[in-house]
Amino acid sequence: MCPLQSYSVSMSEGNMADKIKTPRTKEREFGGAIGALLMLIALPGTVLYLLITCNTESASVFQVPGPLPTLQSLWNPFALILLLCWFALQAVIYMLPIGTIAEGITLRDNTRLKYKINAFYAFLVSALLAGLAIKMELHLSYVYDHFIEFAVAAAIISLSLSIFLYMKSLGAPESALAPGGNSGNPIYDFFIGHELNPRIGSFDLKYFCELRPGLIGWCLINLCFLMKDIELRGSPSLSIILVCGFQALYVMDALWHEEAILTTMDIVHDGFGFMLAFGDLCWVPFTYSLQAYFLVRHPQELSTLAALGIVLLNGVGYIIFRGSNSQKNAFRRNPSDPSVAGLETIPTATGKRLLVSGWWGLVRHPNYLGDLIMALAWSLPCGLGHILPYFYVIYFTGLLIHREARDEHQCMKKYGLAWQEYCRRVPYRIFPYIY
Ligand code: NDP
Repeated sequence: MCPLQSYSVSMSEGNMADKIKTPRTKEREFGGAIGALLMLIALPGTVLYLLITCNTESASVFQVPGPLPTLQSLWNPFALILLLCWFALQAVIYMLPIGTIAEGITLRDNTRLKYKINAFYAFLVSALLAGLAIKMELHLSYVYDHFIEFAVAAAIISLSLSIFLYMKSLGAPESALAPGGNSGNPIYDFFIGHELNPRIGSFDLKYFCELRPGLIGWCLINLCFLMKDIELRGSPSLSIILVCGFQALYVMDALWHEEAILTTMDIVHDGFGFMLAFGDLCWVPFTYSLQAYFLVRHPQELSTLAALGIVLLNGVGYIIFRGSNSQKNAFRRNPSDPSVAGLETIPTATGKRLLVSGWWGLVRHPNYLGDLIMALAWSLPCGLGHILPYFYVIYFTGLLIHREARDEHQCMKKYGLAWQEYCRRVPYRIFPYIY
């Protein structure tokens, strides 16, 4: 156990933590327990549907895919073992005494957890091992050939982890429960996540799953698809190079700025249950890689001019995304930082201020705008003939509109009149002059 990562709770604080209670969740999201139950079925069903459809000749979402695969054909113990080895590798890198330590936000019991910051090293080590596998001529295209079986294995792991997390949460102190996942309804709490920061010793399960096995796995999956493209055509297409390149940049950016995750809704507000476990370990790697999966079976010609336009679009999205996220992070860390000190702000009753100029004066969620522009750039290399590779940008628009509404709700509760004033001064939420 790494001593720097353990709970920063002294004996007296520990006793205090037992007495602090997390209030019951009154406002249930996602349609309450019934909505949660439907999502438990719909989310894995959607992953399967997308992958099966993508694997058909027409890749059309308007056609019912032919005969469904048998349960036996979806079960591949070797895929499950490979995935477990991948998680174990990431867990070992996470625990290595490399990187730095950061503190999370102050919790309800007045303590702050410590987190290891070394996800970028995990990416580098994984990239090195992948390079070694290519050099040794290991068949990375196996992942493409058995992709649906890998997705099923990831769903089984996510479900098993969620069951473990829920059982564990039943023995957790009241103060450790998530404000959003403490409704008293087992289905709802299982889905949203009952415990806020479940840990085994110093190992933070939610923090580990958020960025490492799924996000780095997404890049590895893309690389396997690229290798399959080379196997089929002798060299990778420009379209698949662009998709894999853009997405690798996005993942590396997230890992490089790992510390920023400590103030996100996922870490601060949401518990760790099926929603995040399935999202991190199955949904992200197996649906975000859909464009590259599509391109192997349905190659697309891309002119140099079109490619340049797409690169430019991705660049614009990245500048808005990174510029706005970094501006807010710098401001929250130190409002007198020279890079943000000149920006106009609104004071709030909590003592914190809200930025009202710079990126955050353009719309109320400029970071979502940049993210969505990039999402479009990742789909365009797949041409305009199919909707399926646009699944990510369509779904992501819905996700960010919903997420934005959740965040507005939280900010209204936190900042009241100051938030109303911010909404008056910056009337658009994500898309300037549209929404
Ligand atoms: P945000 O980074 O948007 O943070 C929202 C918080 O920022 C608010 O709760 C508030 O918190 C603070 N804030 C809001 N407005 C202002 C302002 N004007 N001035 C100062 N602070 C303000 O949260 P997310 O976690 O949703 O997003 C982080 C990034 O992750 C985004 O770029 C998003 O696109 C991306 N993302 C990507 C996903 C994917 O699957 N690819 C999924 C989800 C997110 P406070 O005041 O308490 O600091």
